[in-house]
Amino acid sequence: GRAWHLTARPHGWPAPDGFALREEPVRPPEEGEITVRNLHLSVDPYMRGRMNDVKSYVPPFRLNEPMEGGAVGVVVASRAPEFAPGDQVLHGLGWREYATLPARHATAVSGREAPLTAYLGVLGMPGLTAYAGLLDAGGFRPGDAVFVSGAAGAVGGLAGQIARLKGASRVVGSAGSDDKVRLLTEEYGFDAAFNYRSGPVRDQLRDAAPDGIDVYFDNVGGDHLEAAIGALRTHGRIAVCGMIAQYNATEPPAAPRNLALVIGKRLRIQGFLVNDHKALRPAFVEEVGGWLRSGELRPRETVVQGIENALDAFLGLLRGDNTGKMIVTLDGA
Ligand code: NDP
Repeated sequence: GRAWHLTARPHGWPAPDGFALREEPVRPPEEGEITVRNLHLSVDPYMRGRMNDVKSYVPPFRLNEPMEGGAVGVVVASRAPEFAPGDQVLHGLGWREYATLPARHATAVSGREAPLTAYLGVLGMPGLTAYAGLLDAGGFRPGDAVFVSGAAGAVGGLAGQIARLKGASRVVGSAGSDDKVRLLTEEYGFDAAFNYRSGPVRDQLRDAAPDGIDVYFDNVGGDHLEAAIGALRTHGRIAVCGMIAQYNATEPPAAPRNLALVIGKRLRIQGFLVNDHKALRPAFVEEVGGWLRSGELRPRETVVQGIENALDAFLGLLRGDNTGKMIVTLDGA
């Protein structure tokens, strides 16, 4: 099977020549292991951090080895009692066609309740990120006015819709194209949205939320964060989910320059990692699963076909080619 290797660590924007799609032997399972043929791969912004050789909350990818990431696939060989060939599983060895792993690192999933790709998006890590970020880190309460950046992406689109469904007084989003802005207001039910490329975020946020905001769900950082600090009301909260505007930067960002406002407004800035919020998973599955069944929550996906295009899918994600969750579907899935 083929697998994507990182061959050189990027400085700034990753270039395709730092990656290679290589043929690898498929290792047969040992006792307690399964071999999976992957059907769908996830590409996610956090993978950019794993390409750097710095200690973080996840270890860096190793050079000239398959990269890792979320994937769903079908078991083709098993030496574990939990799974038989034909079973479908979610696991962490993406970026490749075949994966052999301990059965305890795989979770059974079923395409009957939701499409398999949902376990990489709305019912998976990005969905829980949106739910936990808004409710735990953001301390959201019904009646809050909420601003979400990266709002047409996987996490942001769900964070804004969850805020609406849980009784936000106003939901405002920003995204990088006019088409995405239309999606936010016309399909996701945001009250207002703007294209951050069309003018200063500060001015556009002021127009979209003239009475200010109570919660800022930050996916972007930089000038978005600065604008949000300006717009937040007293005792407002910032859930710092990501800062994608600086993942490829080679210099530290200039903003936020107005951080001292945090004092007088008594703001709370709370970073969070989805993996710390697994206790919320049952409530998340119950509530989000219900909104999916009722049609009140509309998840979107952008699907790129073929493992040979997985790197382009990842690079496209960093540029904003995706609407909703970016998925790579392998041939034969
Ligand atoms: P998205 O689906 O949102 O894809 C990334 C999006 O970022 C692109 O579509 C693009 O949309 C936007 N973007 C890229 N560059 C910029 C920029 N300079 N300024 C503003 N927007 C930009 O990805 P995810 O939903 O998977 O992730 C969203 C955020 O959540 C990321 O910051 C990620 O790191 C973070 N995250 C954090 C987790 C945690 O545990 N804390 C877990 C999962 C994700 P556009 O066209 O609008 O520019």
